[in-house]
Amino acid sequence: MKTKSVLEGRQELAKVIAQCAEVAGYLWQNGWAERNGGNLTCDVTDVIDDGIRALPSLAPPLPIGKVLPSIKGRWFYAKGTGCRMRDLSREPMDNGCIIRITDDCAHYEMVADKPVMPTSELPSHLALQDYLRASGSSYKATLHTHPVELVAMSHIRRFCDSATLTRTLWSMIPETLAFAPLGLGFVPFQIPGTVELADATLKEIGTYDVVLWEKHGTVAVGTDIMDAFDQTDVLNKAAKIYMAALRLGGEPEGMTDAQMRGIQDLFNLPRTRVK
Ligand SMILES: [Zn+2]
Repeated sequence: MKTKSVLEGRQELAKVIAQCAEVAGYLWQNGWAERNGGNLTCDVTDVIDDGIRALPSLAPPLPIGKVLPSIKGRWFYAKGTGCRMRDLSREPMDNGCIIRITDDCAHYEMVADKPVMPTSELPSHLALQDYLRASGSSYKATLHTHPVELVAMSHIRRFCDSATLTRTLWSMIPETLAFAPLGLGFVPFQIPGTVELADATLKEIGTYDVVLWEKHGTVAVGTDIMDAFDQTDVLNKAAKIYMAALRLGGEPEGMTDAQMRGIQDLFNLPRTRVK
């Protein structure tokens, strides 16, 4: 017999989890989430009620590997380790878990629905969540995925810096500039899951909408998981247009600096992260 899910009778929480499932489906459909590739976390504290707060932990607390004081006692939905995005899209509570950060800010407890161990990248995602809270941001979601065209660009040396990448992508289509106004930060290659990669990502995410890990993938933060997906999607769309134009012959022209400034001014686009 199937046990009752905490999502039953909790519309707001169910809505957030359903959005995670919807985005997981897009990641798979886009070819960005092979096997168990990619991770996501979402801060669900605002939609956690006393009934969930009273639930016992499903297993003893596990160490995060970092002390993260700004997310003390907060609640997250996190994709499970080894779980596939395409499975999460159908069964989010079998392929992810609602966890709580303990009061020592160094451990987490799995609370619902099942003890699905979170992603091995949990420390870096929680470090991002901690950074967002500490900076007073209203952002709630983190997304790591493997967008094909952006990763391909990170194999070409001349694109391996934030300014060149950002300018090239912005110049492809006005919407990229409008919807990713802070651009794409570049992080040189680091071994996945290391503190060095997490720290380099934290450094860049304060400046850019999305961060590109050389020869690996992207990390985005967003007001919700759909927002984090959209940021990644508009940047990858620009990369696709760049490549499509390149195949027609010659280096794509791109919008001029004056044209891009005109768009920035017209839409009064932010140059630094809006909280
Ligand atoms: Zn990855």
